[in-house]
Amino acid sequence: VLPVIALVGRPNVGKSTLFNRLTRSRDALVADQPGVTRDRQYGFGAHAGRRFIVVDTGGIGQDDEDIDTRALAQTDAALEEADLVLMVVDYRQGLMAGDEAIADRLRRNGQRVLVVVNKSEGQASVSANAEFHALGLGEPWAISAEHGDRVGLLLDHVFADL
Ligand code: GDP
Ligand code: MG
Repeated sequence: VLPVIALVGRPNVGKSTLFNRLTRSRDALVADQPGVTRDRQYGFGAHAGRRFIVVDTGGIGQDDEDIDTRALAQTDAALEEADLVLMVVDYRQGLMAGDEAIADRLRRNGQRVLVVVNKSEGQASVSANAEFHALGLGEPWAISAEHGDRVGLLLDHVFADL
């Protein structure tokens, strides 16, 4: 049975870009328009001889009123089947109320979660991570899904105990 890694986070933080990098596919829809990925999407990844399944989800914990309840249900289902949740946040936007809402949900869920600070290309990880410690989900991990920065190191870290 392959480990399942679920990507969650607000719209537009870069979940689908990370999905594509992890699966080396262009399957997930990537767009500037928030909420483009409606449902769960599955892909296979491999790292250092270990294979895994990645689940991309629609955004949860959005600040606006227009939360897609279907995407929310899909996300809950993805959380249920995940061995590890990567909660993706956007370094450029900084810590948002919607991130706090998602973090609350994940903390209640009790699964293994790693906060991934995306779009932090060109930043030292210490400064990129600073404000995201407040999510209360442990030491964040700064990456750039688009450029690939620190993604290999993230997978080393993930598979050290998965
Ligand atoms: P999703 O809604 O969370 O799936 O986000 P997407 O993967 O669709 O990405 C939203 C936007 O952020 C797109 O314009 C991406 O090109 C951009 N993006 C994703 N990852 C990065 C990154 O590492 N750095 C920068 N600068 N932009 C990124
Ligand atoms: Mg998406």
